Amino acid sequence: MWIWRALILLQLVNGVLGWGKEGHFAICKIAEGYLTEDALAAVKELLPDSAEGDLANVCSWADEVRFHMRWSSPLHYVDTPDFMCNYKYCRDCHDSVGRKNRCVTGAIYNYTMQLKSGYQDSISVEKYNLTEALMFLSHFIGDVHQPLHVGFIGDEGGNTITVRWYRRKTNLHHVWDTMIIDSALKTYYDSDIAVMIQSIQRNITDGWSNDVSSWENCANNQTVCPNGYAHSIQFPLHCCVDSSG
Ligand SMILES: [Zn+2]
Repeated sequence: MWIWRALILLQLVNGVLGWGKEGHFAICKIAEGYLTEDALAAVKELLPDSAEGDLANVCSWADEVRFHMRWSSPLHYVDTPDFMCNYKYCRDCHDSVGRKNRCVTGAIYNYTMQLKSGYQDSISVEKYNLTEALMFLSHFIGDVHQPLHVGFIGDEGGNTITVRWYRRKTNLHHVWDTMIIDSALKTYYDSDIAVMIQSIQRNITDGWSNDVSSWENCANNQTVCPNGYAHSIQFPLHCCVDSSG
């Protein structure tokens, strides 16, 4: 199953929220390198013209539309009760007024289902906007791996925690989304995103190669397993009150 496998591999860049533009671009660019020929053809068929044939170019689209497609805003993250050590779909996947399944893991299930059914029957092709489904899914797979996209409700995933990043006053969420990547780009890669991507790609085949099979693995032959991605965000134990709840 082309796209799911590829999207599972998106988690290779483990670790950051609604990544900024560079983060989402890098994640999708790396994932594209793992697409089979069939998968690539299917992706290209769905891409809008603005992508110019490259999925990475539209991987931030979901952030651009979240304010006029306001219903999509809660789909970028899932927060747990404060100081909980764990994530639970039934407990945590809802929006701020309690509507179920409105969270990043719910969205990953939903858009995966749309894309999968789109390749199984023509009714689904008409029923869903599969171009948007692809752009949402490729974005949300990135988001779920940003640790503060699976954060605490009380501090809005680190958005209300003021910190200093070098000389700039900002919030913790923004540090993870953007500033770590920006600083790394400037410091180590001469502000060249292509060089940074190559370096990560080398790590996948080299330094992190032992981890790849576990990244690829969805239990019970599931097509997609976003709960596993959300769980894999490790909460610092000293911050937690309960690891069983
Ligand atoms: Zn996002």
